[in-house]
Amino acid sequence: MAPQQELTKTRPANYSVWHRYPTLPKWCYHTDGDWFEQRLCNGQLECVAYIETIELPASYSTKMKFAQYEYELWAHKYQLMKEIHRKMGIRCFVVRHTPDCGYFSVAEINNSGEQKAEVMDEFIYKHFIQGLEPSHPCTNCGNTSWQFYLDDKNECKSGWHCSRCNSTVAQFEFDIPFDEPLNIPFEERAQ
Ligand SMILES: [Zn+2]
Repeated sequence: MAPQQELTKTRPANYSVWHRYPTLPKWCYHTDGDWFEQRLCNGQLECVAYIETIELPASYSTKMKFAQYEYELWAHKYQLMKEIHRKMGIRCFVVRHTPDCGYFSVAEINNSGEQKAEVMDEFIYKHFIQGLEPSHPCTNCGNTSWQFYLDDKNECKSGWHCSRCNSTVAQFEFDIPFDEPLNIPFEERAQ
């Protein structure tokens, strides 16, 4: 999916069905991942978090505190998330949500396992997503804590500022060039 638009709506399953025993041996495990939150830092999209999403039935809007225990993460997803956390050094979350995205149960996965979930409404969850920080230190002063400034229209024209020296390292721009296919040179396409 491109960063700014949902294009697919539903996920095709043919590859998933094909990639099974006996087409491939049982030891060829494959796990589909969900979402990498990316932020524009010095002209490059950089991962700030990995989020595994689980859509709950609509009835959970009144009992979100049970979602974490009644919709458990599969063991293979948990293995994947621990590895992403360890190797990429980014935060990982499993987010269980109502179909209308009105309520979210947000649990962090770290080296100690799945942490107790925090239930958020849409307003709080949007704030949480916007608050996911770049993990690299400020190139000006080495500080690792960031402050986010929102613009009025929520159009990503503001961005992260170093909380110590206030330098803007991770700049956000609205018309970024990432909403397009990665253009492979024509000579290579013709092969
Ligand atoms: Zn700084």
